[in-house]
Amino acid sequence: MYELNQIVRLKKPHPCGGKDWEIVRVGEDIKLRCLTCGRFVNLTRDELKKQARPAGNAEEKKANEESGKKV
Ligand SMILES: [Zn+2]
Repeated sequence: MYELNQIVRLKKPHPCGGKDWEIVRVGEDIKLRCLTCGRFVNLTRDELKKQARPAGNAEEKKANEESGKKV
């Protein structure tokens, strides 16, 4: 399920390099705001389902990358 204000990470990065998006409207289409540059895009539910990464994996990977950078 997708809800307003939910943060999703997409497989394909935005041209600005951002991968994290906030859901700002849920309807027939889903409107997302890029957290990196603030631009808006519309995706259909099917497109979002294909593009979205499971949050658990993304966070785990990010945590690993961050700990790797710090050391
Ligand atoms: Zn962007």
